[in-house]
This record gives sequence, C-alpha cells and structure tokens, in this order.
Amino acid sequence: MSTIFNNLEKVKTNLPKGVTLVAVSKTKPVSTLMEAYEAGQRVFGENKIQEMVGKWEEMPEDIEWHMIGHVQTNKVKYMASFVSLIHAVDSFKLLKEINKQAAKHDRIIKCLLQVKIAQEDSKFGMSAEDTEVLLSSDDLNDLQHIEIVGLMGMATFTDDQEQLAQEFGYLKTTFDRLQQKYTQLTVLSMGMSGDYPLAISHGSNMVRVGSAIFGARNYS
Ligand SMILES: *Cc1c(COP(=O)(O)O)cnc(C)c1O
Repeated sequence: MSTIFNNLEKVKTNLPKGVTLVAVSKTKPVSTLMEAYEAGQRVFGENKIQEMVGKWEEMPEDIEWHMIGHVQTNKVKYMASFVSLIHAVDSFKLLKEINKQAAKHDRIIKCLLQVKIAQEDSKFGMSAEDTEVLLSSDDLNDLQHIEIVGLMGMATFTDDQEQLAQEFGYLKTTFDRLQQKYTQLTVLSMGMSGDYPLAISHGSNMVRVGSAIFGARNYS
C-alpha cells in the first residue's frame, strides 16, 4: 500500500461523518494526485488557478476541484467552466466577476466567504462585520450565477492551541450567528494538517488537508 493511501486512511479515521475532506494537492504532480484518486479521493484543493486548470485537464472528470487560494479577478475565467467551490471570496467585486464568468457557462458557482480570523496581517479575508454587510446587500440579488454556501477561515500559523481554539471558536460563533439569518450557509471550511482535529471540535465540516496526505511541499 502506498504512503498516500495510508495517510488518507489515517486522516479519514479522524473525520466524523459529515466532514468533507479536501485533499490539498498544490505543488504536487498529477501522478501523486492519482495515487489519492486511486485510493478513492474525489475532492481536491488547489491554490493557483493555472495549476488547477492543468490538473483538471489531465485528470478524471469525476473530481471536484476546489479553489482554496486567493483569487485574482482576471483569472476567474480560466476555472469558471469546472470549479466546484471557491473558498476564499473576500469582496463583492470578486463575486460579481465569478457571477459573470459562471453565466457564460450557464452554471451556478458555489462560493465561501473568507473571514479573517488570524492575528497575522498577511492573511486575506473580511471582518465578520463586512461579511455580514456583504450578505445583507441587495446587490446580491442580481448575481444569479453564484451561491454563497458558507464561510472559510485560516487560523494563525502557530502551535499555540489556545490561540487556535480561540480563532476557530470565533469563526464558529460568527457562522452560527449568520446562519440564523442566512440559512443557505451550510459549509464551514476550517482546519489544515496541523489543526484539523481542533477545527472539527469547533464545528468545522470541511477540512483542507495537504501535507498530512501528500507529505511536505517543496517550493524550490
Ligand atoms: C496549503 C493550504 C492548506 C493545506 O495546508 P497543509 O498544512 O499542508 O494541510 C489549507 N488551506 C489553504 C488555504 C492552503 O493554502
């Protein structure tokens, strides 16, 4: 049995029913993704649009491709025909462009709004307040080709369990509050290799796990 098969099995034993595993395959070659595919994995996450397009072209059609990285407006068109879920939407302008490109393919593209939960400055995302303002905007009614189905967050890159718990807890509280008013919100995407069990204990139902499945990434 391959290492990837074993890693996947191990991660899956930690996932309660109802938690979706996004296998984050960025920087990894198609041959490596195919090992996960052969092991039954069908949901893959990438953070660069061009890289995702290349893999989509080469790989089987029954894969769900998730864009988990920051999205530049001018690149939405390359993935609009096939992307299943865009995790990191952080502006109305981006939603508008996704809507426009989805319309060209007669699709409705599902999106998550990225809420900023980390202390670090470098992380993208909106404040909880801005997220609420966006959700309440009348202008959203004009966007018939997008569907906002949940929230996504990235915690601080730290081993400090208390801080992580606080950040995940904050996102879950925000999610619960907004869900009361916006019942279409069903997905809460939080948790990565180092912290997904903690994220799940704080209510995550979609985890984005890369290195725990595919091993460390080599960016050189
Ligand atoms: C790379 C990445 C992940 C996965 O990170 P690992 O620590 O390898 O599990 C999850 N979410 C986002 C947004 C990422 O860019």
